[in-house]
Amino acid sequence: MMKVLIAEDDVTSRMVLKHMLAEWGYEVVVTNDGDEAWEALQAEDAPQLAILDWMMPGIDGVEVSRRLREKEKDQEEYTYVLLLTAMGTKDNIVTGMEAGADDYLVKPFDRHELRVRVRAGRRIIELQSDLLAARQDLIKLSNTDALTGLLNRRAIMAGVATEIARSQRNERMFGLSLLDIDYFKKVNDTYGHLTGDAVLQECAKRISSALRPYDSVGRYGGEEFLLIIPGGEENSVWSVAQRVRSVIGSTDMDVDGTRVRVTVSQGVVTWDGNASIEELIDAADKSLYLAKENGRDRVERAQTLIKR
Ligand SMILES: [Mg+2]
Repeated sequence: MMKVLIAEDDVTSRMVLKHMLAEWGYEVVVTNDGDEAWEALQAEDAPQLAILDWMMPGIDGVEVSRRLREKEKDQEEYTYVLLLTAMGTKDNIVTGMEAGADDYLVKPFDRHELRVRVRAGRRIIELQSDLLAARQDLIKLSNTDALTGLLNRRAIMAGVATEIARSQRNERMFGLSLLDIDYFKKVNDTYGHLTGDAVLQECAKRISSALRPYDSVGRYGGEEFLLIIPGGEENSVWSVAQRVRSVIGSTDMDVDGTRVRVTVSQGVVTWDGNASIEELIDAADKSLYLAKENGRDRVERAQTLIKR
């Protein structure tokens, strides 16, 4: 049920409005003047449709509109404002519309006219929220790796940048692990690409299951994943990486009836100061290389970066 706010100081007009809107299926929030209206419009889950009388004690309808637009300037929500003006007054409609009202109605208004005007406002609000939802979906889609459902490279790299900023502010450290599936080419060559894809999906699932709620993981490249392991100390970064290694390597994967043994190598690096993203990734990459050199199915760590 859509909420509609009415702000009207005239008792009769207020009652009429309230009953009509309720009859048409709106949830009505009734206020008696501009101050009450302004307060109600700032509440959480406030009505997105407001019918404001122009002339009211305290702040008038035009001022409420102006404040609404000011408040909404940098926000995504929008309140649709229908201004009520009294016939014969010298209210300047242009002033009202310029202050931010979307539409106006002259009192005494016709019941049917009010109904269609409110319906038009409702349509705008619904379109607006559909657009917002569509945009949220797009953002989510543009951050997601289609095969695994994890964050994609761009999104996980943005996550690293955020983590650096956060850690700088809080003066704490975080860790990264660059993970690579061992002999993945052999999986593809032996079982085919479909199985290879399923292995990537299963790895993604297992990695996620081994992480804590505030850790994150993204697909960094073909068979490479990047893990962000915030907070704590070097040991906790290390133990998360080891848990991930173990949860993947310790039991065979059952991929459409085919049993596949998969192991991963990881290069871990911890950050506690000045390193750039490039330096961090580079250090993780070198450690990963070491893990491969030292026999795979293992984690190697780089020296803590900071000592500057
Ligand atoms: Mg009035």
